[in-house]
This record gives sequence, structure tokens and C-alpha cells, in this order.
Amino acid sequence: MPTITEEQIVTLVKLQKIDTEAQKLESILKEIPLRIGILDERLGKFMQSVEEDENLINELNKKYRTYESDVQSNLGMIQKSQEKLRSVKTNKEYQSSLKEIEEIKSKNSKIEDEMLEFLERIESAESNLKARRDAYSKIVDETNREKVSIEEDSNQCKQKLVELESDRKAVMELLDSTILDIFYRVKAKQPDSVAIAEVKDAVCQGCNLNIPPQLYNELQHRNSLKNCPSCERIIYWEDHSKRSE
Ligand SMILES: [Zn+2]
Repeated sequence: MPTITEEQIVTLVKLQKIDTEAQKLESILKEIPLRIGILDERLGKFMQSVEEDENLINELNKKYRTYESDVQSNLGMIQKSQEKLRSVKTNKEYQSSLKEIEEIKSKNSKIEDEMLEFLERIESAESNLKARRDAYSKIVDETNREKVSIEEDSNQCKQKLVELESDRKAVMELLDSTILDIFYRVKAKQPDSVAIAEVKDAVCQGCNLNIPPQLYNELQHRNSLKNCPSCERIIYWEDHSKRSE
């Protein structure tokens, strides 16, 4: 067991604190593209629904124009039939032309009813689109604001990481390489990357398991580097009674 001074233990605890903080910041930074992705996805979906509304209106207008031209061509046919009416020779021809005209007129009247309905549908689709566009522009503003705030978070994290890195260097200089090697070797094995844990009332705070009495005894001498037999973290003991005095 390598020997360790109380000061070195305190330094290791400090080092762990720095590493944990840096880890937290790194995971915040890692989340940032994800957060931006979610914002962009929401915006994209909304834009798509605006486009769908626009397409619907285009379709309705197209159909409406088809009706319009149908009505026009029917009117042309009526005019022709009326001209024909003037030059018919027999009563039979006359009746049949009249019937033709009536049929076309009734067709047109059906189309015009249809057109009225389409006008209502176009109107309601246009008011939907307007509401959707208003909401869209709000979401664009909101997204931009959130992106600015994410950017600020990101810059803060990066800035803090730079500071922590220099703190880490300073702290590491206070420790000899044997202890650092052990620290980082233990750390690599821990799922939470925490290499050092306090032992309180014979319980390792890293894994919450009891350590043997003999080890607990030795630990209280605070002069050699010990590991928890369960989780393998470096363990230390602090005299809290002394502190509170
Ligand atoms: Zn443990």
C-alpha cells in the first residue's frame, strides 16, 4: 500500500470534484446538438403543415378555376343553341334545342352551387393558413431565442471547462505520479467516474457497503492509501467530530 498524507487525500478529493464538474459540463455540451436538433425538427414540422395548408388552397383554387371555365364554356354552348333556335325549321327541332338549353342551364346552376361551396372552403382554408403562419412566425422567434440561450450555455460551459482544466493542472502538480496513476486507474473502472469516496461510520459512501472493522481502523490513521473492498474506490475517513468543535 502506498503511503499517503492527509494533504494528498484532500488534494485527491479536490481533483475528483474538478473532474466531476468537468464531466457534468461535458455532458451538457454533448446534449447541445440534440437540443438544437429538437428545435429544428419542431420548426420543420410546423413549416410542413404551413406548406400543406398552402397546397390545399392551391388545389381548391385550381378546382374553382376549372368550374369557372366549365361555366364559361356552358354559357358559350347556350349562346350557340340560342342562335340555332332562331333558325330552326320545325317544332321538333325547336323543342329539342330548348331542352338542350335547359339542360345546360341546370348543369351550370349545379356547378355554381358547387363553386359557392368551394369559395367557403377556400375562405376557411385561408383563415387557417393565416393562423398557422402567425403561429409559425412565433415559433421562429421562439426558436431563435432558445438557440441564443443554448449558445450562451455552451459558451459558459466551454469557459468553465477551460478554468477547470487549469485548476486540474494545478492540483495534479501537487500529487505524485504513483497516486495519480492509482486514482485514474480506479476512476476508469467506475461507472460514475468517481474514484474516491469518504467512509462514514464504516460505510463506503461510494457503494454504501460496510468495510471490515480492521480496515476501518487503519483508515482512521490516515497514512496509507486504501481501497474499498467492494467498489475498489480509494477511500478516506474524515474526523467530523473534530471539525465541528
Ligand atoms: Zn465502496
